[in-house]
Amino acid sequence: MKKIPLAMQDISELEIKAVNDAIRSERLSLGPRLSAFEEAVCNYVGCRYAVAVSSGTAALHIGMIAAGIKQNDEVITTSFSFIASANSILYVGARPVFVDIDPKTWQMDTDKIEEAITQKTKAILAVHIFGQPVQMQPILKIAEKYNLLVLEDSCEAIGAEIDGKKAGTIGKWGCFAFYPNKQITTGEGGMLITNDENIAKIARSLRNQGRGESEKWLSHERLGYNYRLSELQAALGWAQMQRIDYLIRRREEIAKMYIERLKDNPKIVLQEIAPNVKMSWFVFVVRLADEFGIEDRDKLLSMLREEGIQTNPYFAPIHLQNFYREMFGYKEGELPITEHISARSFALPFYTKLTESEIDFVCERLNKLIDKL
Ligand SMILES: *Cc1c(COP(=O)(O)O)cnc(C)c1O
Repeated sequence: MKKIPLAMQDISELEIKAVNDAIRSERLSLGPRLSAFEEAVCNYVGCRYAVAVSSGTAALHIGMIAAGIKQNDEVITTSFSFIASANSILYVGARPVFVDIDPKTWQMDTDKIEEAITQKTKAILAVHIFGQPVQMQPILKIAEKYNLLVLEDSCEAIGAEIDGKKAGTIGKWGCFAFYPNKQITTGEGGMLITNDENIAKIARSLRNQGRGESEKWLSHERLGYNYRLSELQAALGWAQMQRIDYLIRRREEIAKMYIERLKDNPKIVLQEIAPNVKMSWFVFVVRLADEFGIEDRDKLLSMLREEGIQTNPYFAPIHLQNFYREMFGYKEGELPITEHISARSFALPFYTKLTESEIDFVCERLNKLIDKL
């Protein structure tokens, strides 16, 4: 039986040649390929500074430190995300405060932010889930009113836009991730982007063991980390950036083929896309209609897997992970919309090399198997 994976990178000869050249070069770390990759991303999104690091999670972590988020601060964010979003807040000893999501777009419900603000609130971490930017205008307004920082976890949204602005360039900083299932990959990798010179300076120092601007080898100005990205990875990332318009366009075509084939099934609900948004499709997630429950979803996923179609629940709410329950006492029922959507949502195979006949097959099986629930 043919297996259709959930995700798959898109590597061309250009990437292979770039990595080959890197491995033959004199420098395997902190060399010209790192700067070339950073510059390519800066030019693409239109920001001043980019600091490439070893993962998207590392970018979030140094971003939190550089923004001055500290012990006992509170940061407002969404529970309907990948766990790294909220973990980055925990890394600096601060507390993630979750607001519920919009039932249609599945993004943070900006109407619920104000009621979550306390004396301790320092920032709003906006997360652009599945490649759709969350509504930034209301977030910026609230942030201004209460003097809060706006930070962007744009790890799923490189190339996406809202109100004509690229995701990640609207807040104090944004970040990207380059794990193989993302729009572009470096194997493992991430990047912090900002227009703030000071944030960029601190981030550069933090990724390189807290070294100062001179990067003098045994002089350390602050508690830093080894979050460097190697020249091999930077070469891969640079080559992917040369192809990013194609990669995003192809993902859009695949998404449209899915939408076309699933939109008329009343048992499937698709993510609504706000009119002021340009998507950069990261995953293709759908959900079962309200009449179904989590057991139906899980049964459907195992039936799909039996047909060779890889699929996964997407996302599990962060606040219901065991260690979050233990740390903060979260219980079911606290974020009803997040919990309602997560119990019914799942990701379908999604990558540039999916063929139309594979999409036909996935949708045909999905539409049939749902009727067995
Ligand atoms: C992928 C992702 C990250 C982190 O990426 P890694 O490179 O795997 O560390 C952070 N936040 C979100 C929302 C993501 O999807």
